Amino acid sequence: EAEVVLVGRSNVGKSTLMREITGHKFDTGGKPGVTRQPNHYDWAAEDFVVTDLPGFGFMSGVDEEYREAIKTDIVQYLEEYADNILAGILVVDGKSAVDIIDRHSGPDEIPYDVEMFHFLRDVDIPTVVAVNKMDKVDDTDERLNDLCDRLGLYPPWKQWQETIAPITAKNGQISPLNEAVRTHLHEQNRDDLF
Ligand code: GDP
Repeated sequence: EAEVVLVGRSNVGKSTLMREITGHKFDTGGKPGVTRQPNHYDWAAEDFVVTDLPGFGFMSGVDEEYREAIKTDIVQYLEEYADNILAGILVVDGKSAVDIIDRHSGPDEIPYDVEMFHFLRDVDIPTVVAVNKMDKVDDTDERLNDLCDRLGLYPPWKQWQETIAPITAKNGQISPLNEAVRTHLHEQNRDDLF
């Protein structure tokens, strides 16, 4: 069965989004970084499985070594199952993503979101960036254009609607994400015909 994976830093709203797309209840706002195992659920509206990979980034009481171990697990999982993965959803916090990326950019530092975005593409997993918490963002176009720029996508963001999906998971506003994922699903089906 085709699989869609969710990755993202802690606290971006991954559990909230999981609840929205699967109809299951998730422990939102819970202690991050506790789950190391990938969890699989059915995507309510579609015929595929959604896998929630552990959140990554700052976690209070979790040491550096453990954080790195989580990251290694995520990367290994994606490499192992890349052929079966229909789409990767990188969830980011629309309000803070650009600032966090800029703060962690340097000569020998690649921000997690940027690294993960490129990694997914390197292993040929079609990637959608679910830009969450858009209810907290006023200058939508400017913010999304900046995010595109940081990810190496030439702005304006509206050219990238198969990749950039602004959502507010908390209020159930996720149709740009559904549409973007569906586009990749259809691309895959079309490839199968030839
Ligand atoms: P996770 O750590 O990525 O699983 O994040 P959670 O789903 O637990 O959410 C972290 C926090 O962000 C919680 O307080 C959520 O209520 C909040 N949150 C999630 N989605 C949204 C959203 O669309 N808008 C706003 N304003 N807050 C959100």
